[in-house]
Amino acid sequence: GAYARRAERVVRSVCPFCGVGCAVDLHVRGGRLERVDGAPGPANDGRLCVKGRFGMDYVHHPQRLTTPLIRRPDAPKDPSLLAPGPDGRPDPAALWAQFRPATWEEALDAAAAGLARVRDAARAQGLRGRAVPVAGFGSAKGSNEEAYLFQKLLRSAFGTHNVDHCTRLCHASSVAALMEGIGSGAVSNPVRDCAHADLIVLIGANPAQNHPVAASWIKNAVRRGARLVLADPRRTELARHAWRTLAFKPGTDVALLNALLHVIVTEGLVDEAFVAQRVHPGDLEALRAHLQAFSPEAMAPVCGIDAATLREVARAYATAPAAMIFWGMGVSQHAHGTDNARALIALALLTGQIGRPGTGLHPLRGQNNVQGASDAGLIPMVLPDYRRVADPLARAAAEAAWGLPPGALPDEPGLTVVEILDAAHEGRIHAMLIQGENPAMSDPDVAHARAALARLEHLVVIDIFLTETAALADVVLPATAWPEKTGSVTNTDRLVQLGRPALAPPGQARADAWILEQLARRLGLDWHYGIDPLGGAPEPGSGIGRVFDEMAGLMPALAGLTWARLLRVGAITHPVAGPDDPGRPIVFTEGFPTADGRARLVPARLTAPAEPPDADYPYVLITGRQLEHWHTGAMTRRSAVLDALEPAPHVSLHPALLARLGLRAGQPVRLRTRRGSVTVATRADEAVPDGAAFLPFAYAEAAANLLTIAALDPVAKIAEVKHCAVAIEPVAAA
Ligand code: SF4
Repeated sequence: GAYARRAERVVRSVCPFCGVGCAVDLHVRGGRLERVDGAPGPANDGRLCVKGRFGMDYVHHPQRLTTPLIRRPDAPKDPSLLAPGPDGRPDPAALWAQFRPATWEEALDAAAAGLARVRDAARAQGLRGRAVPVAGFGSAKGSNEEAYLFQKLLRSAFGTHNVDHCTRLCHASSVAALMEGIGSGAVSNPVRDCAHADLIVLIGANPAQNHPVAASWIKNAVRRGARLVLADPRRTELARHAWRTLAFKPGTDVALLNALLHVIVTEGLVDEAFVAQRVHPGDLEALRAHLQAFSPEAMAPVCGIDAATLREVARAYATAPAAMIFWGMGVSQHAHGTDNARALIALALLTGQIGRPGTGLHPLRGQNNVQGASDAGLIPMVLPDYRRVADPLARAAAEAAWGLPPGALPDEPGLTVVEILDAAHEGRIHAMLIQGENPAMSDPDVAHARAALARLEHLVVIDIFLTETAALADVVLPATAWPEKTGSVTNTDRLVQLGRPALAPPGQARADAWILEQLARRLGLDWHYGIDPLGGAPEPGSGIGRVFDEMAGLMPALAGLTWARLLRVGAITHPVAGPDDPGRPIVFTEGFPTADGRARLVPARLTAPAEPPDADYPYVLITGRQLEHWHTGAMTRRSAVLDALEPAPHVSLHPALLARLGLRAGQPVRLRTRRGSVTVATRADEAVPDGAAFLPFAYAEAAANLLTIAALDPVAKIAEVKHCAVAIEPVAAA
């Protein structure tokens, strides 16, 4: 029919799910996304996983927000509306009934007025910096330009650095350790550089599920002859390809890694020339002294890996011509996450396994734009390009670029994600702006987080669905999905790519950057980028282009990149020093970006998990992701194919534990921790250690974060969502 005859358009963009950053061709006909193909981008060379290929139909889901919403005066904020209803999921009708549709003018005025009211009251009291009772969570799922505008808005309009995003729950500890050790939070080598590695260490990451195309490059490297060392309490899918699998006890990463370091410093495996040239003098001796207590023989009973294997792996890593380390949330999401990453950095530095092809350190970034959002300054301690807020020159540069009077930006860091919600709970944060994040699902001890959000005097949420967080808002502003956006995005490799819009936003949904500009003006800021409310084409001189150029002007890493150049090349890896610099996929080849060019070795302390199992809560709860679903499920649970593949939550237990509990796989259990309980079906999985339970966090009907603990890493303030004590109780089937 006529529909079939309508011309198909193909638009080159980027996958919106994980940090691999696969290039995609979006096939559009009659305003609908028909098909997604892999495109020949630097990260994926045409490859895609199930999410990229089949998961993007969420953009057409009937629950998309298509009009601004304002809370009805007779609808109090009630977190209990988020509890599972009779069919297992929260009742969407009850969530929607709290709001009435509004015009854009009305909604933007209401959104800004509530924020301004709180700000002005704080100013009258003389509050400044982190004491300002306003905070914002920006998004790692939007564009770089949106992240940049978001942090600029919070900082300029409210005079506070209380602005953060989900990196806090993800790789904050990795970034803290990397900044401290080598002066940069970015990866040293791209994923595909594993093609040049002789040995690959993969620890606390499950790329076959969470970064599938990255896993395919690792499998290719193994097929070519590289040896894979897989270190993870779970025997994940890549164990089939591993040369050695180190299934260590949950939470004992530091014991394992310090044992490897002990072997390196006691068996003459240190690359003395590299350390003499590239590492701070005296650090090796201090580390050597610290490591005395960590012999493989002493650590074997702690981590559960025998001493001979620890010695063998340490020797293989140190003597490989080129060895590369990848890590994920299993390393970072602990109260000792920074120490875990410190030990990994020390491994690379002691052996000179950094600064060359096939070597280096690669924390696999989760969200599609967590690297870019962090680069853009969506972090309470730093301005764009990781320039510390305490640095007067960095503040002066931002104030000048943003048209603020000198001294407008405070010199103390703002509050972090968990600290902000704690402050809201205690009545010290009164208003929040949240764009594209879902803390009512993603935060540790989420009952506490939901109560904190409900307590806010004013909450404005910018999103594409009525998420669990939006359901607690005063004003909800309907925004754009990634295939509707114009903007740049930076993947785990530091690869900056151009996202082009393939679809028009539905109904009255508007470009996120336009929404931020409208709010900024209503908050008294002189913003005139001229951003197209519908996103607009990626053209030179466009509003988004003006934002990009202003951002790049504040970022040494993007010094050689302009919007016009990005439009021409489509993809380039930062740092880009000048207009002719082709970008730098491998960094730290000569020195490190520290004051003296040298790296620091920082001893990693062995600390017990915050909440070890005990008689009342005898098992370990591990939370994480799964192949078919993305994070809190806002997108993938609204994708027909993905939701059909994994329609319901389940907890994975070792068959031996199932047997001891007297259960067959499929029968339900109640998981109970000191914070809450959920009821969920069981699944038998030999990959999960006996004595542990693995629960994905994508499901509102069994929200894993009702159970998790908000114990924080003291350095990075990341929460220990990978480890808490849980009781498992059989329940009668419904
Ligand atoms: Fe998208 Fe990541 Fe899958 Fe690539 S690997 S298609 S970026 S989800």
